[in-house]
Amino acid sequence: LEPKEEFEHSSLTVDVMRPRRSDPALAVLTQEGMTVEEVEALVESTRYSGFPVVVSQESQRLVGFVFRRDLLISIDNARKRQEGVVGASQVVFTEHAPAHAADAPPPLRLRGILDLSPFTVTDHTPMDITVDIFRKLGLRQCLVTHNGRLLGIITKKDILKHMAQIANRDPDSILFN
Ligand code: ADP
Repeated sequence: LEPKEEFEHSSLTVDVMRPRRSDPALAVLTQEGMTVEEVEALVESTRYSGFPVVVSQESQRLVGFVFRRDLLISIDNARKRQEGVVGASQVVFTEHAPAHAADAPPPLRLRGILDLSPFTVTDHTPMDITVDIFRKLGLRQCLVTHNGRLLGIITKKDILKHMAQIANRDPDSILFN
């Protein structure tokens, strides 16, 4: 990414992040409470490269970030090798597995594949700063928060598309600037 003077005027991260108002909601996983089946369904219904993990849907407090490929490989391995892991097993990203009923299938513990300190910016971070962070840290994606709650995600491609729109003076992008 090149430093772009175009950003000097006014774009904020909230103008470039996803989801946009008309998009489906951000696809997130909760740190506990989802089953293997539910996680697989969510992952397979999207093409995203990764998923933020939150404490709960209500709190939207960020716990970490997990890559799609790591999730799929781990679930696949566990289903093949880990005794008793089935579709109804609970997926757990917490440090300690929650107590489960004796007759429930054993949980699938996935904290090991979680990035526990994903980079974040706030929704009101000016885009020139966000671009700088992407360049200096070589990021592919970054999470966006508002008052400590997860709000969205911004990828390198989102930024490149936004730059291209500005360069083309695309009427849609002017609405956002
Ligand atoms: P890229 O932008 O490099 O293609 P992705 O495939 O992960 O990366 O993302 C595609 C689009 O979906 C981007 O606009 C990104 O901001 C958005 N996105 C990425 N992850 C999620 C997610 N978990 N939920 C909702 N949108 C996402």
